[in-house]
Amino acid sequence: VPPERSEMLARVRTQIRRHRFHQRMRANVQQSVSAAVTDSLTGLHNRRFLTQHLDALVAAARRSSKGLSVMLADIDRFKSINDNRGHAVGDEVIRFVADLLKANVRDFDSVGRWGGEELLIAKPDAGPRIALKVAERLGQGVAAAPAHVRGCSAALPVTVSIGVSSFRGGDDTVDALLRRADRGLYAAKRAGRARVEAAAGCEASVGRRGLGGCGNGGGRRRSDG
Ligand code: GH3
Ligand code: MG
Ligand code: MG
Repeated sequence: VPPERSEMLARVRTQIRRHRFHQRMRANVQQSVSAAVTDSLTGLHNRRFLTQHLDALVAAARRSSKGLSVMLADIDRFKSINDNRGHAVGDEVIRFVADLLKANVRDFDSVGRWGGEELLIAKPDAGPRIALKVAERLGQGVAAAPAHVRGCSAALPVTVSIGVSSFRGGDDTVDALLRRADRGLYAAKRAGRARVEAAAGCEASVGRRGLGGCGNGGGRRRSDG
């Protein structure tokens, strides 16, 4: 091989090595960026991502007349699943519910794990009426699909309670939105679980009881103060 040629080959090799190195670096960075915003159990957004994303969604909702709604879905009596079936089965149930919720919202809705067995759904463009309807549908979907879980021969019946809140315009904040969703969730638990509740106030028109068969309908909605 003539010297110029082997010199050139060596340079090309160096360039290729350098290129591969940079590719690997970039993949690493991408991987750790996405790991930082992804929940490792469910593969959904984690709380850090959701918090930042909600800031952006509220800012966007403030600029437009479109709605924004938030749902907090918490698995009912989850502790007894852990206690009776073990933590690993509990994990599988969380994953199952997460997949189900994710599969039943639109692509531009965000679903993430807010913590423990609590999942958050953000729906841009949705006001209270639509959000409640969707939450009812999601809750019924979970109740209608017993969790098939590894290491568990029978499917486990699982329900969720969901608290819903909607952006009220003006100086409504992410914190206030989350607080109202949480209050709705608490009300749903108190009213017997396996149902949807919104904190009263702007959402006062929503009186429908969800998911059926849980009795105790028509209880007073907690007021939103
Ligand atoms: P409620 O209907 O009121 O929501 O009752 P609950 O039993 O679901 O609620 P509680 O808050 O008492 O229990 C939640 C349990 O979830 C307690 C905690 O140990 C468990 N948990 C939290 N994170 C995880 C997790 O990642 N995996 C598993 N397997 N369990 C978890
Ligand atoms: Mg909980
Ligand atoms: Mg729970």
